Amino acid sequence: MVKQIIPKNLKEAITYLNQEDYQVIAGGTDLMIQKRNTADLPPLFNTNILYAFNLDELKYVIKDETKIRIGSMTSLETLLHHPDVPQLLKDVIIEMASPGIRNVATLAGNIANASPAGDSLVALYLMDAIVVLSSLNQERQIPISKVILGPRKTSIAKNELITEIILPIHNFSQTSWVKVGGRRADAISKVSFAGAVKINSGTVIDIRIALGAIFMTVVRNLEIENRYKNISVQELKDNMQQILNDYQKLIKPIDDQRSNKIYRSQVALNLIEDFIRKI
Ligand SMILES: Cc1cc2nc3c(=O)[nH]c(=O)nc-3n(C[C@H](O)[C@H](O)[C@H](O)COP(=O)(O)OP(=O)(O)OC[C@H]3O[C@@H](n4cnc5c(N)ncnc54)[C@H](O)[C@@H]3O)c2cc1C
Repeated sequence: MVKQIIPKNLKEAITYLNQEDYQVIAGGTDLMIQKRNTADLPPLFNTNILYAFNLDELKYVIKDETKIRIGSMTSLETLLHHPDVPQLLKDVIIEMASPGIRNVATLAGNIANASPAGDSLVALYLMDAIVVLSSLNQERQIPISKVILGPRKTSIAKNELITEIILPIHNFSQTSWVKVGGRRADAISKVSFAGAVKINSGTVIDIRIALGAIFMTVVRNLEIENRYKNISVQELKDNMQQILNDYQKLIKPIDDQRSNKIYRSQVALNLIEDFIRKI
């Protein structure tokens, strides 16, 4: 018999997770699709369910001098309107789903779902987001790139709950987000791109590029990024072809119902080129 638990607080939630296997539900906007049943029947869950979205203590955005802490049950719509949420993340969220879905969907659900096309992941990789995983006996703070291991695969243990997402504050000079989908709203990305630069007196201090839906996880490569730091903006632009060659080696998309490999590869390179040209 499948159990359905609605814990009253975080302590109770992680105590349940420590006792038995549960499928955590936040907004349910991924899960209800994954567990959908034949017409007119409710979704079919064959595991115990722990409903986390009512945990008000996990609904917050707190900013200090170095970081922004986002409680894992804060809805995407709340983040969209919060003054302390970085504009880059807002640019991503406004293109995720529709207001109705965003009212319940969470960053935690996007992370734990670990889809190669998960939109928020691209921005979270770019910003070096840290995911806080809490269990009864410990709290782990893990970089997003170590939480997501592959499509639908994460390093989140069965007794752990994502409780917080930490975004270091970067003060980029320029950020960019482009989502290529089949339509303007409610579209899953064919390719997605986030870029950021920090420029000081014409010198590139920091440059970051992250791509979604073109590999099994978000692609971000620190080695390539480091190669193009501490040079002038003009030198960066002069290296355009080399940069595109560098990224081409990392772009390994799949063919699926939304798009094909050739289109995804070319569009990803075009987005990188466009970003660098506009610096
Ligand atoms: C119509 C529609 C449009 C959509 N459009 C987009 C889009 O444009 N871009 C996009 O990226 N996604 C989109 N999605 C997918 C979905 O809305 C997002 O992935 C959303 O962020 C999921 O959040 P959630 O809280 O609803 O997750 P849920 O469905 O509740 O959970 C998803 C997974 O995360 C796990 N989980 C949730 N919270 C936690 C936690 N705190 N700790 C541990 N595990 C947890 C669950 O067990 C489950 O495996 C869309 C979905 C729909 C139905």
